[in-house]
Amino acid sequence: MEIEDLLKKFREYSTEDTTKLEYAWQFSKDAHTDQKRASGEVYFIHCVAVTEILVDFKMDLSTIAAGLLHDVLEDTTVSHDTFKKEFGPEIYELVMGVTKIETLKFSSRDEAQAENWRKMILATAKDIRVIIIKLADRLHNMRTLNFLSKEKQVEISQETLSLYAPLAQRLGIFHLKSELEDLSFKYLHPEEYTSLLAKVQIRFAMREKLLAEFKLGLEAHLGSTQIPHRVLSRAKNLYSIYRKMQKQNLPFEDIQDALGIRIITDTVINCYALLGTVHSIFKPVIGSFTDYIAVPKMNLYQSLHTSVMASSGEIIEIQIRTEEMHHTSEYGIAAHWRYKLGESGSDRHLDEKLNWLRQWIEWVQDLSSPREFIESFKTDLELDQIFIFTPKGEVKPLSAGANPLDFAYAIHSDIGDTCIGAKVNNKMVKLDHELKSGDICEIITRKNSVPKKDWLSIVKTTGARSHIRKYLREHGEPLD
Ligand code: MN
Repeated sequence: MEIEDLLKKFREYSTEDTTKLEYAWQFSKDAHTDQKRASGEVYFIHCVAVTEILVDFKMDLSTIAAGLLHDVLEDTTVSHDTFKKEFGPEIYELVMGVTKIETLKFSSRDEAQAENWRKMILATAKDIRVIIIKLADRLHNMRTLNFLSKEKQVEISQETLSLYAPLAQRLGIFHLKSELEDLSFKYLHPEEYTSLLAKVQIRFAMREKLLAEFKLGLEAHLGSTQIPHRVLSRAKNLYSIYRKMQKQNLPFEDIQDALGIRIITDTVINCYALLGTVHSIFKPVIGSFTDYIAVPKMNLYQSLHTSVMASSGEIIEIQIRTEEMHHTSEYGIAAHWRYKLGESGSDRHLDEKLNWLRQWIEWVQDLSSPREFIESFKTDLELDQIFIFTPKGEVKPLSAGANPLDFAYAIHSDIGDTCIGAKVNNKMVKLDHELKSGDICEIITRKNSVPKKDWLSIVKTTGARSHIRKYLREHGEPLD
């Protein structure tokens, strides 16, 4: 992609002045000029590739510019002051967000820890656009992972599968989630990937005929009505098939996976017209029709769903929607970014953004434990949570203002009770030292040491306070 292509694509959906974008292009190109990627290509190609993904998302100008510049603060000699002066606070904050996430080094493979990490990434990002840039960055890195060592491939794929694919899913960007999963799957289980890919390709080839038959029938029945439409077959997500096989302990041949077709048209009226046409060609499966246009899902998803029987007896699942509905379903939160916040969000809109994000998250369905998830996010989005590491790399969420004593009790009440001191980032600190997100905190304990009454005035978390009170009560200390 050249700068002209970028500007052209951007202007297709935005009227924002592109001077800054052209400047960001040249600035990033110059800043990265001496760097090469593992592939041997010039580094700037990566910045452009990430930006291209963001333009496909139809993101606002600041996000696109930040995409071009996303590695400038981390990987080049450009100073923070220069960057801020050249591009202003909004783009600076976006790039800083991406850079900060880059410094979080995920190490644990424990699922509970992964959940904390995902929360930490969201809390660190503050602005959801940072996550979207980070996801675009990760997608391009995954697409070019073959140039790295085997060891790196596994490490990065593991991280992608544990952290970034679930984040993409939660933000409703399903095609991104699928691609991240399938790329990770390829590097983590290469043999299973290759064999499954071959089987899926054979199944799809067999279905080509069915798809062609379907399109022909549709064309014939639409005749001269000239309803604009395009027919897409639903993308396959190898990893989700693989997971289904594992979970149900079944071979590929026994995994039910109906042929999925999407018909995209221009207006709502034409959605219903196409539905009528489809039902007049193929026999609908009784009870399969659902109208998510008249009654959208809670995450604002809209489409008409129906299943029909092909002449071969195979079931075809059909979704009919407008281009706009299609964009929303493919791009999730990123699509809403554009529709809801046409003007690029400055900081005074922060509350509005967070409110809207909170709402969005409440809308997102299909989660294993939505209640718990929403609860955890509600606290997160207050932005009053910090994340503290043990020396072994485990992370604990704490409320802002917490100190090593709170942290000690968050690990285990015995650690709290016997705490005599703490190190933060390898330096001794007082017990009331205020912790900051990302600190590595080591608790020093002494056997038989006991809680002190004045700790009650030090601790900030209710968990720690109630443990101390409980101990003092049980040991006959008078509490006032
Ligand atoms: Mn990058």
